[in-house]
Amino acid sequence: MSVATETFPSLNPATGEPVAEHPVHDEKAVAEAVGRAREAADWWAALGWRERRLRLLNVKGALARNINRMAELIRQETGKPLADAQIEVVLAITQLDWAARNAQKVLGPRTVFPGLTALNHKCVLEYRPLGVVGVIGPWNYPIFTPMGSIAYALAAGNTVVFKPSEFTPGVGVFFAELVAGVVPEHQVLQVVTGFGPTGAALASSPGVDKIAFTGSSRTAKRVMAACAQNLTPLVAECGGKDSCIVDSDADLEAAADAALWGAMANAGQTCIGVERIYVVEDVYDTFLKTITDRARDLRPGFDREAVYGPITMPGQLDVIEGHIKDALAKGATAVVGGAESVRRPYVEPVVLTDVPDDSTAVCEETFGPTITVHKVKDLQEAVEKTNRVGFSLAGTIFSGSRSRAMDAARQVRSGMTSINAFAAFATVGALPFGGVGESGFGRIHGADGLREFTSPKAITRQRFALPMNLSSFDRTDKDMARLLQTVAMLHAKRYKR
Ligand code: NAD
Repeated sequence: MSVATETFPSLNPATGEPVAEHPVHDEKAVAEAVGRAREAADWWAALGWRERRLRLLNVKGALARNINRMAELIRQETGKPLADAQIEVVLAITQLDWAARNAQKVLGPRTVFPGLTALNHKCVLEYRPLGVVGVIGPWNYPIFTPMGSIAYALAAGNTVVFKPSEFTPGVGVFFAELVAGVVPEHQVLQVVTGFGPTGAALASSPGVDKIAFTGSSRTAKRVMAACAQNLTPLVAECGGKDSCIVDSDADLEAAADAALWGAMANAGQTCIGVERIYVVEDVYDTFLKTITDRARDLRPGFDREAVYGPITMPGQLDVIEGHIKDALAKGATAVVGGAESVRRPYVEPVVLTDVPDDSTAVCEETFGPTITVHKVKDLQEAVEKTNRVGFSLAGTIFSGSRSRAMDAARQVRSGMTSINAFAAFATVGALPFGGVGESGFGRIHGADGLREFTSPKAITRQRFALPMNLSSFDRTDKDMARLLQTVAMLHAKRYKR
């Protein structure tokens, strides 16, 4: 790689101390990394399903053996509690394991039935790797989130150039070292570090076959514009404004516990975090008391007893404070905390009620440990209000009725819903993860996540010639008559209910 003259430090957001210094990779350095990834791509694709599976399972093993080192690095760069960082690595391991074990089954060649008119052909469908995938990642879950793209892209037979967030470069660099230890022959995963321009160079590189972006919706639009230059396809995992809906017959203790965790864990810096709670009116008061009593006990900090850490990205503190102030100015009540809860770099828990629907705390992503709690008359109103914002990533429903919860889950406009628990879908390798609307498009995780990094290839092989050949200038009127007769027999009937 060309020598990057400029460097930048990653900082511990709790202490402000530097964690490590990293190069700012410029356009030339990114182009060189993409070039090396291109060279490695043919080798990695030719390695075959079995060998790639073995290598990726060994990468998983290396990560599992280094779980504490990785978690400590995540803690240093994000400020989150060590146990949260360990859980994050465990979830990343789960995704890596699923991708490695299922790639061949999902993407490998299979024979498909050709239909009666093409019975003389053997039809093969397979999913070919794209080549080089550029992964641009965020800082809030710096190993779990990009793993949803990196593991799936690698398992599908692509090589990867990863641009981690400027807040968490060390996590990316360390993971690439683990991969290099298991795959020393070629650089199948490279890391380029730096700020927005480094990501922009990757997105606009003509050598990249797909970009997997995870970050804010605002940046996703810039990335999409950069991708447009080369018609590079994009999967965009963006922000959210997810709701938790609490039905009248829900287990209120469990709902309050899950909603509070969903809202405040990781200091609320979770794309699928709970930002709004809609509670059916007859249980509203009981639920509100339960959640506020619990919220008052939560304390942020960087010590071992703290339940969540600081706000990792300093600029987000202004957004959080702005949302609280906007809600209060519009008539909301702070039942826990208030604008004074923002004590840089920490934000203490904030619970707001009577928040008008047009306030930023209800319709924009806050990304902090704040929640708005709303009274609704029934599940239907909760679903309608949930669907009013442009973000549509995920959500939670607590209900004692399986059918009512399932109906509501189907009506919520989002990519994922978890019933009677928070975000269970994110822990299941087999399930796709992604949003709609402002929350993005495309999927990571699961079979859809593997296919995201491939191109379907259809191959037909004629096994024997038919007595008539319709794709030939030798075709006769008799051949056409036979064809039309067959079509009438197969397709012309009327279907009755
Ligand atoms: P961000 O958009 O600021 O940055 C994301 C990445 O994009 C970083 O690596 C950054 O350096 C890079 N970048 C910035 N400008 C760029 C440009 N012009 N071209 C290319 N790359 C550029 O987001 P963030 O603050 O790091 O992450 C928080 C956001 O990510 C939140 O909105 C959160 O909801 C979202 N997120 C979504 C998911 C999901 O799966 N849907 C998961 C985690 C986080």
